[in-house]
Amino acid sequence: MGRRKSRKKIRARPRRTLPKIFQCPKCGTSSVSVNIAKNKESVQVVCTLCGLFANLEYREFYQTVDYYARFLDLYEKQMAEV
Ligand SMILES: [Zn+2]
Repeated sequence: MGRRKSRKKIRARPRRTLPKIFQCPKCGTSSVSVNIAKNKESVQVVCTLCGLFANLEYREFYQTVDYYARFLDLYEKQMAEV
């Protein structure tokens, strides 16, 4: 009695590790990886299964998911053009 319920501690969340593998819009598998070049001049997004590939400009404020979104955009545009 008289015991206080221990409050749930609000922990500062450690930074989530950014996802690196995404789903491929072409073959549908989770085989798309985002590789930022060491010199930070370009970013390659590639599906290791079907070989779908995009070479993107490096942007400082982008995260891997943003490159992936660009990758999807490009893919859709490509599809529209064909
Ligand atoms: Zn693929």
